[in-house]
Amino acid sequence: MPHHILMYVLVLITGASVSIFLGIYSFKKIRNAPGGKYFCAAAFLSALFAAAYSFELTSTSLERILFWVAVEYIAIPFLPTVILLMCIDYTGRKLKRWMNAILFSIPLLTLLLHWTNSFHHLYYTSVGLRTDASYPVAKLEGGPWFWIQTVYLYFCLLVSVSILLWQLKKVSFRFQAQIFLMVIGLLIPPAATLFYLNGWSSGIDLGPISMCLSFLFHGAALLWFQMFDVVPIARETVFESLEEGVMVLNKNEVIVDYNQALKMVLPSLTVHMIGKPLEEVIRSKERLAAIIQRGQESDYQLTRGGRELHFHIRFASMKNKRKEIIGRIITFINVTERVEMEKQLQKLARMDGLTGVLNRTFFLEQAEAACQRLKKEDGSVSIIMLDIDHFKRVNDTFGHEAGDLVLKKLTHIVRENIQPNDLLARYGGEEFIIFLPDVSLFKAHERAEVIRTAIAEAAIFINEETLHITSSFGLSYAQLEPFETDSPVQMLMREADQALYTAKRNGRNRVQVFKQALKS
Ligand code: GH3
Ligand code: MG
Ligand code: MG
Repeated sequence: MPHHILMYVLVLITGASVSIFLGIYSFKKIRNAPGGKYFCAAAFLSALFAAAYSFELTSTSLERILFWVAVEYIAIPFLPTVILLMCIDYTGRKLKRWMNAILFSIPLLTLLLHWTNSFHHLYYTSVGLRTDASYPVAKLEGGPWFWIQTVYLYFCLLVSVSILLWQLKKVSFRFQAQIFLMVIGLLIPPAATLFYLNGWSSGIDLGPISMCLSFLFHGAALLWFQMFDVVPIARETVFESLEEGVMVLNKNEVIVDYNQALKMVLPSLTVHMIGKPLEEVIRSKERLAAIIQRGQESDYQLTRGGRELHFHIRFASMKNKRKEIIGRIITFINVTERVEMEKQLQKLARMDGLTGVLNRTFFLEQAEAACQRLKKEDGSVSIIMLDIDHFKRVNDTFGHEAGDLVLKKLTHIVRENIQPNDLLARYGGEEFIIFLPDVSLFKAHERAEVIRTAIAEAAIFINEETLHITSSFGLSYAQLEPFETDSPVQMLMREADQALYTAKRNGRNRVQVFKQALKS
């Protein structure tokens, strides 16, 4: 036997052994993964093809050669079908029963016609030995069905490559590499055929060995890239549909994967950052970097397009079978709506429902806190109480709803005439209270007068009628002492109330200062 044939036989046996190994390994590891069972079947078929071809090459008679070619045909017609099904299954597609039946009927017919060729010559028109070779090589002339099988083979190959390429644009970088390897695997057999047909392989059919080589690529694609046994389709649909932003890091803090939702947190992320250390990507975000380094559940805020976004960050470690940490998963849960709702509820709990000013309870809390601060600075406080004059008449004449409108209008006027640091609250019914930090009694009086005049001059339109109201004011004032333990707020409120009573008694629509305050 020529030396180069012997070498090729050795290569074929190696290829067949590798294919058997891949078949067994994939049966154990990935038969349930997408494409897994077809890969397994194809690996065994290609092993059979390579092994039978090695026997064909070492055969010394036409009879034995034809026997081994017949054995090869147990594998040859089915390989393109199984490879096509592998690509279909890998990309998460499902075939209808009748489509499957058609896909298998052609190779079955090929097998049948090949085995029974001597009766009809539909597969080979002539069978003999090549006369120009120095060792026995079969010379087989293809018949009509041979060409049908050839067209079918290239059809399956073309559809397989198209399916994979179509999938390429839909998946992330990691799966692109996987698909790319599979496409290369698919292109090896036609490339080998080109060699063979051009006579570059000294008449040796490179088909069987190219199949084995092709399966090495598919094997690499399916086995090495199954990072967490996440199938590409499951990854795309589950991982990408998560509302939470998710980032996967390996144990060296290198980004392994992320989903689109994470772009809410890190808009600058692109696929090119996969494989880069996280540190590089979040270098400018010191707060986030500190949280991730600490690795403890935390809250994180950021401003995007003028809106404040709130995230809750969680960490989970990934372990291998031996319980060693191999990386971690960081989840960013968008809690903006919840935080905004809580803020809104807190605001509502502080507000008077009708007028939108502070309610009495919250006013007292805030006023006490402000007094504690002012005490330390030797500050002073004024309190104004105001009550609408003859409000009962408004209700009686125009109705309760009109009365409500008047209350809203009045708060609007008062609001416009107070300072940002002042506190305005509805004390009860049609009585309001204003806390003025750090103003002199004179200033406070002046401000009360401004408000009183503004109310008295305001025209309120109700049911096409114009209404005028007045209100009476009681004013109290205290210079705060740093060492005084009692809170002045309650006392000042009582005093302002007394002054208000005096204002009412003295004819209404006036500001009355509490008499003790005048002496201080
Ligand atoms: P005075 O000048 O002495 O203060 O006379 P007044 O009529 O304003 O005093 P009074 O305390 O007798 O009446 C207050 C009225 O305010 C009685 C109540 O019906 C009305 N009132 C209290 N709260 C509301 C409210 O939320 N909406 C409306 N429309 N009226 C209210
Ligand atoms: Mg009143
Ligand atoms: Mg009243």
